[in-house]
Amino acid sequence: MLHVLVIDDNKADRALVIRELKREFAQIEIQEILDEKELAAALTAKQFNAVVTDYDLRWTNGLNILRTVKQLYPYCPVIMFTGTGSEEIAVEAMKSGLDDYVLKSQSKYIKLPISLRIAIERLENRRSSELLEIRLRRLLNQLQIGTFRANSNGNYIESNTVFLKLLGIDNLAQLQTRDVLNIREYYSMLEKLPEPQQELEIELQRPDGTLVWIALSMTLNEIDKEKVLDGLIEDITARKQVELERQQLNSMLEQRVIERTAELEATNRALDETNQKLVIANQDLETFTYSVSHDLRSPLRAIQGFGTILQNQQLEPERQKKYLQRIIISSQSAFRLIDDLLEYSRISRSELPLRLIDLSSVVAEVLMQLESTIQQRQATVQVEEPLPQVIGNYTILIQIISNLVNNAIKFVAPQVKPVVRIYAERTFNNKIRLWIEDNGIGIAQNYQERIFTVFTRLHSNDEYPGTGIGLAIVRKGAERLGALVGVESQPGQGSRFWIEFSAEF
Ligand code: ADP
Repeated sequence: MLHVLVIDDNKADRALVIRELKREFAQIEIQEILDEKELAAALTAKQFNAVVTDYDLRWTNGLNILRTVKQLYPYCPVIMFTGTGSEEIAVEAMKSGLDDYVLKSQSKYIKLPISLRIAIERLENRRSSELLEIRLRRLLNQLQIGTFRANSNGNYIESNTVFLKLLGIDNLAQLQTRDVLNIREYYSMLEKLPEPQQELEIELQRPDGTLVWIALSMTLNEIDKEKVLDGLIEDITARKQVELERQQLNSMLEQRVIERTAELEATNRALDETNQKLVIANQDLETFTYSVSHDLRSPLRAIQGFGTILQNQQLEPERQKKYLQRIIISSQSAFRLIDDLLEYSRISRSELPLRLIDLSSVVAEVLMQLESTIQQRQATVQVEEPLPQVIGNYTILIQIISNLVNNAIKFVAPQVKPVVRIYAERTFNNKIRLWIEDNGIGIAQNYQERIFTVFTRLHSNDEYPGTGIGLAIVRKGAERLGALVGVESQPGQGSRFWIEFSAEF
């Protein structure tokens, strides 16, 4: 039901108002106010929801009535219905909250009910939007969502309590002096976007030093021709922590998987290598056994042969002596073979402490051991001193170098005096290479690898005596020291054997 106060001194005008309003509103009650007393009573009774007033009244004027009503009931629609007002009055009244100004002239008064209806509707809209806003505020508070509005200068115009609480500040004024959110930057960032809207997750430090993760959602809106930044913030610290922990857990798991895979791969590789070594060792053992029996057979056969002849035949003492000598030589060579084999097997098995060894002293000792051979063969051995220190084992180094120098003196063409040169150099990868160079018969390319295996000999025992184990000892010994060996040679051009050592641990 609509209750309207109609304030007009003129009875006819009041009747006009009542008639017009009743035409428009079916449910309407109208109270006519004729003086100050009646107005005061109506204002206290509060039983009206709109006012239509004239401007010119004997006891007051429309502007005063407007102000009195609005002071008590700011939302109550007030319409001025007058024949005497001026434009200045209209403007003044509008400023004081007047809803409309309708002239009493013939053509205009029919506007009065429409005007009232519009004012009432506006009021209702306003009420419901206010209600909506209240509900929204409550909801945001319940959901712990902070809201704020700021202008282009980075000044906060408004905010709710959750906003202040989340940022750990007491009031907006505090935020103006120390903007934890850095709102001015966001403002200019949003201005540059084609659609001024942005959602971010940021970590902030509150004035008390605590850290908080915030989901910030912002838009630029235009309010009363001014662009403002409206934003919502939400505390996502708990979620972020879970996320962070999950990430850490994931990367830890990933790392573990990587490590485990690497370990497994390494184990597999080691197993493969061991398998391969076993296969090679088996093959080696077979060739080795074959070679040993083969090489031992020839001296033993000679011993047996000459022994049988001596046993069965009556021979002249001269011949007997000759055959006995052959038996002695053959048994010596069988012994040498066995000795060399023992040495080879010792080098493969023995414990090897590795330390820094001075090559000069090793070479000096070897030359001393070979002194008689050197003299016999009238050989010259040049050592380019000083030789460096290398990582090795003294006994093994003696065996290696002595075998190499011995061969260098041995495998020389008849009539040629052996010349051996021993020197060292540092390689590009910081290793040390010891070279043993001779002026001997040289080695064909296709044998340069084979000679390092057991019993490989390129010459007959008559030409160059030997067991074919020396270079196998050299290679095995080098392996035990973590060193490499090789040879550079051409038939008839001499050979250069090398051993490559580590210079430091
Ligand atoms: P051995 O000296 O008992 O014959 P090695 O294992 O020391 O056995 O050498 C294997 C073979 O390699 C030799 O029989 C020889 O044919 C070849 N060889 C080794 N050293 C040299 C060298 N300095 N010059 C030429 N040939 C060599």
